[in-house]
Amino acid sequence: MRERVLLHVCCAPCATHPVNVLSADHDVTLFFSNSNISPAAEFERRLCAARELAARMELPLLVDDYDHDLWLAEVSGLEKEPEKGKRCHVCFRFSLARTAAAAEAGGFDGFTTTLTVSPHKSSPVIFGIGEDFEEFKAVNFKKQDGFRESVRLSREYGLYRQGYCGCEFSAVPPS
Ligand code: SF4
Repeated sequence: MRERVLLHVCCAPCATHPVNVLSADHDVTLFFSNSNISPAAEFERRLCAARELAARMELPLLVDDYDHDLWLAEVSGLEKEPEKGKRCHVCFRFSLARTAAAAEAGGFDGFTTTLTVSPHKSSPVIFGIGEDFEEFKAVNFKKQDGFRESVRLSREYGLYRQGYCGCEFSAVPPS
């Protein structure tokens, strides 16, 4: 019997390749949980792209509450940390904890996250945090040139791709 897996979606472009990998032998439900994103209009824009992807892939999409104030309280004191530093580790744990809770509430067999597809996010760090959650599946979506494939698919699907990670403390690339 195929396992039911809840996939934390950090954004639609990053989810493209992981959806294909996981769907080969799991029943996948998408979980958009991104209270880290600022401002709220950007959250809505990324959610809209996630809805487009879910419709295209014919997959169910669950949307978590957006509570940026709660997220800010969680990373309080770490605002000046560089990207990939301690603030990001707390941010990963915040999203994984919410996904774990949703997976348990929904009776899923396990959960994982699209975060590992990005070359800007350390898979070992994410796996280390995931170990604290019993139902976490450590899937390294960087494998098989995963990031390049996610970029290719998101272009093919015409998905909105943001220019920064998500929070107001993210590094914004030069224009
Ligand atoms: S830079 Fe990205 S991963 Fe790091 S805290 Fe901000 S939103 Fe989270």
